[in-house]
Amino acid sequence: MKKRIAIIGGGAAGLMAGIMAARKGGAVTILEANEKPGKKLLATGNGRCNFTNTAQDKRYYRGSDSNLAMNIINQFSMSDTLIFFSKLGIYSKNRNGWMYPNSDQAQAVLDVLLKEAVYRKIKIKTREVVRDICRQDQEWAIKTSAWEYYADAVIVTSGSPAGLNEKSKPFAMSLAEKLGIETIPMLPALTALRGKKNNLSAWAGVRVQGAVTLILNGIPMKSESGEIQLTAYGISGIPVFQLSRYALRAACEGCSVLAELDFLPDFTEDQLYVNLETREENCPYKTLQENFIGLLPSKLIPFVAPREADLREVVRNCKHYPVAVKGTSSMKQAQVCSGGILLRELDSHLQSREYPDLYFAGEALDVDGACGGYNLQWAWSSGAVSGSYAAEVDR
Ligand SMILES: Cc1cc2nc3c(=O)[nH]c(=O)nc-3n(C[C@H](O)[C@H](O)[C@H](O)COP(=O)(O)OP(=O)(O)OC[C@H]3O[C@@H](n4cnc5c(N)ncnc54)[C@H](O)[C@@H]3O)c2cc1C
Repeated sequence: MKKRIAIIGGGAAGLMAGIMAARKGGAVTILEANEKPGKKLLATGNGRCNFTNTAQDKRYYRGSDSNLAMNIINQFSMSDTLIFFSKLGIYSKNRNGWMYPNSDQAQAVLDVLLKEAVYRKIKIKTREVVRDICRQDQEWAIKTSAWEYYADAVIVTSGSPAGLNEKSKPFAMSLAEKLGIETIPMLPALTALRGKKNNLSAWAGVRVQGAVTLILNGIPMKSESGEIQLTAYGISGIPVFQLSRYALRAACEGCSVLAELDFLPDFTEDQLYVNLETREENCPYKTLQENFIGLLPSKLIPFVAPREADLREVVRNCKHYPVAVKGTSSMKQAQVCSGGILLRELDSHLQSREYPDLYFAGEALDVDGACGGYNLQWAWSSGAVSGSYAAEVDR
């Protein structure tokens, strides 16, 4: 008899888990709340789907245990992912290690997964909101709004509220609470940060190549470089996204959180001081503010060189502009969540230590990847590992 596998959530992790379970001989049913599977996948990479990254290391997989996360990644690696998708028809494009389908269409990635799912006779039941699951003798009963399904193993791949307007508690979190499985709260990650100052609308629209340093309770913690985007409410751009999970978790824990912006990373403070002095000597008819013309975007100049400031202060502002962080705009703006079900609650195949034949994968778990294709890699790896093992009857 085929092992019956029920998968809760038809996103990236759920589709991968389903395909792997079916390839191992399982009879797979995916229960998806939306009208169609893979909705979030279609939004990835601005619709182009940055589906993995050639640089792999545990530091790209954040959470309470990056070593455990990396153990899952190693079982279905970036190379396995590229081979898997290549066999399904995806020819990939490499942008500095960030991998995309050559067609630059997330739809292509979803299409090949769905075609494989059909070929593998996976049942995808849409508009099925799973409300609860219960162990009954040797099987799991899965209750949706309208029906009850039975399975030998369940894989929960119900994702996170990131990118959504969802207000209710994520399914995996309520289930974990009911079963006594330990979690940490889901918070937005890979997102913009809101500043406490209220004059920020004056710099909205400015983009600068710079560096951002996160300072928690006065201690510099981590820096990222790249294009910083200044917005009416605070700061955005990839370096800010990369730091946001640390900033928001620290803010939630009551730390003081400061983002220090370096608008001129090519200069040390001393070099900048000398450069500005030379600019003054070359053009003695200019004010200190006018001396920044050609060095920084005009909207930024009043922020780094207010009228009363002296040269040392201005240099400091250029290299250490402080933005006190008060949070993020909303869960809807975030690409992922940090937090979720603790990996240590699961074995090395993502099966619950407490509840046999109950697996978790994808963003429901306490792993959030860095920007650059790592969250989808986590979905593929955790989906593949859980799906393969859940379907293996003789263990
Ligand atoms: C705008 C945006 C851009 C992104 N870009 C990238 C990128 O380029 N590269 C990258 O690596 N990552 C990116 N991500 C992150 C990535 O999309 C996610 O990490 C990944 O899709 C998570 O996969 P998942 O299967 O765990 O969850 P999801 O894809 O969210 O799937 C979970 C599914 O479960 C369903 N579900 C939830 N509850 C229930 C229930 N009770 N019953 C039935 N079904 C349920 C949901 O409807 C959903 O379809 C992006 C995210 C966003 C929002």
